[in-house]
Amino acid sequence: MVQRMSRMMLKTLRDDPADAETTSHKLLVRAGYVRRASAGIWTWLPLGKKVLENVSRVVREEMDAIGAQEVLLPALLPKEPYETSGRWEEYGELLFRLKDRKGADYLLGPTHEEIFTLTVKDQCTSYKDLPVVLYQIQTKYRDEARPRSGVLRGREFLMKDSYSFDTDDEGLAEAYRLHREAYTRIFERLGLDYRIVSAVSGAMGGSASEEFLAPAAAGEDTFVDCPACDYAANTEAVTTVVAPAPAADHAPVEELDTPDTPTIETLAAHLGVPASATLKNLLVKVDGEITAVGVPGDREVDLGKLAEHLSPAVVELVTAEDFVDRPELVRGYVGPQTLAGTAFRYLADPRVAENTAWITGANKEGKHARNVVVGRDFTVDQYLDVVVVEPGDPCPKCGTGLRIDRAIEIGHIFQLGRKYADAFELDVLGREGKPVRVTMGSYGIGVSRAVAALAEQTADGKGLCWPAEIAPADVHVVAAGKAAQTELALEVAGKLHAAGVRVLVDDRAGVSPGVKFTDAELIGVPTILVAGRRSGEGVVELKDRRTGEREELTVDEALARLSR
Ligand code: ATP
Ligand code: MG
Repeated sequence: MVQRMSRMMLKTLRDDPADAETTSHKLLVRAGYVRRASAGIWTWLPLGKKVLENVSRVVREEMDAIGAQEVLLPALLPKEPYETSGRWEEYGELLFRLKDRKGADYLLGPTHEEIFTLTVKDQCTSYKDLPVVLYQIQTKYRDEARPRSGVLRGREFLMKDSYSFDTDDEGLAEAYRLHREAYTRIFERLGLDYRIVSAVSGAMGGSASEEFLAPAAAGEDTFVDCPACDYAANTEAVTTVVAPAPAADHAPVEELDTPDTPTIETLAAHLGVPASATLKNLLVKVDGEITAVGVPGDREVDLGKLAEHLSPAVVELVTAEDFVDRPELVRGYVGPQTLAGTAFRYLADPRVAENTAWITGANKEGKHARNVVVGRDFTVDQYLDVVVVEPGDPCPKCGTGLRIDRAIEIGHIFQLGRKYADAFELDVLGREGKPVRVTMGSYGIGVSRAVAALAEQTADGKGLCWPAEIAPADVHVVAAGKAAQTELALEVAGKLHAAGVRVLVDDRAGVSPGVKFTDAELIGVPTILVAGRRSGEGVVELKDRRTGEREELTVDEALARLSR
């Protein structure tokens, strides 16, 4: 069927919704693709549903192409498997929990590792049943703290999630590689500009994990990007490479009188040195043990990164109580010399390198020390990447100054390993007749989020501007007004439709040509065909939505062009 606007449930809005901050939110609402039902919960209207289906179709085709099998698991799930994995608790307030009429606990699935693991445990018993990759395109539920930005961050949203099951690490690596390639094809077909960034810091050595990020100002993620080489990483995963300082004859440690300088700012001002010449020692408790983290005075410690590096140990900030009965710790004047390795474990940023000299606390009230040399006056127990990354920090691959950009996370691939297989004792009978523990990967794509990400990246001042694969139609035929023009428009639309072209035709009566043109630009179908002034001569106008280029063609020429 030709989609006729005279019969469609479609109401465009002239003004941006009051609560909308991002381009995609404003335009998807104004162009009649989605409507808000509740905070973070959205209704997909006819045009929106088409776009959502188009994204789903591309995802489905490429998942099928790597041999993944589509399934559909429930979204309403019993509590027990999530208790077994520990996520009933871990998810905290993000989880929608509910009870049935008998009082039993349920949840609405935020992601499905547990249930897929159980499904495979039920269905696969031998190594011959593996490898297997399963996927679904399903509604997910997360009670997000800030469900803003329209469908970019919903509390109910559509996700493609897949899970790979293998008997060995090589199999998992292969499933991961196939997903990476499928994702590359998917995002390319969708017409998204994207970057693949490492999501886990190399220092952790842990399992491989990468994110697919779509650069956009509306994004809530930040990533670093090297202007000179191909290095890109989530800001949390950036590693710091510091060339070791040459051995030098540093002057001996000298104590300085620095009254009332408990902060780096007051100290740097008092001595007239840059903050980067000073060494800041942040005290924390790691599983209750006092630990110091040394970073250059001009850098901030990222506590999230620190916690991640030291996990599962629990990291807390020290409080005044921790200084009671510890006279060696002088608040505001702590230094690692004499104390590192005795009063506390000493962790440091790689910039606090061997042979470098620093100004730091002298472990006496109102006093600091200069020429405190790493390796001579104290030693570092462990180096960790814990500072907040800043633009201009060196690329770990080539040394060029890094950029920091905002982006939308559209996909995530992850080698899970045996975490869930262990929790659910997922074994299959191996080649040698002994049980083998299965290893898993999990892979997500935000399908509804991808619609918003595409809108963010492609929209212009006039409205949405969809890439061909995703657009709700290939051609938007506009009947400028008069009956004869409508007749021609419908005729052309019918012929295009017969030729396999997806057509939307604006045949609304009593709507001015101006409004129709504005709506066509707002809706964002790639090609606009106008049956206007020269309809009588059988001449129509073709307009490229993106470039704005116009061309007059005879109906036959236009049909030939668009049916290609
Ligand atoms: P975020 O950091 O944005 O909250 P996440 O890392 O928690 O996302 P994953 O668990 O990796 O998300 O989920 C897989 C994919 O699902 C994400 O890459 C993203 O594209 C999408 N997604 C996650 N949360 C939402 C949401 N609230 N609304 C829409 N899409 C989402
Ligand atoms: Mg993620």
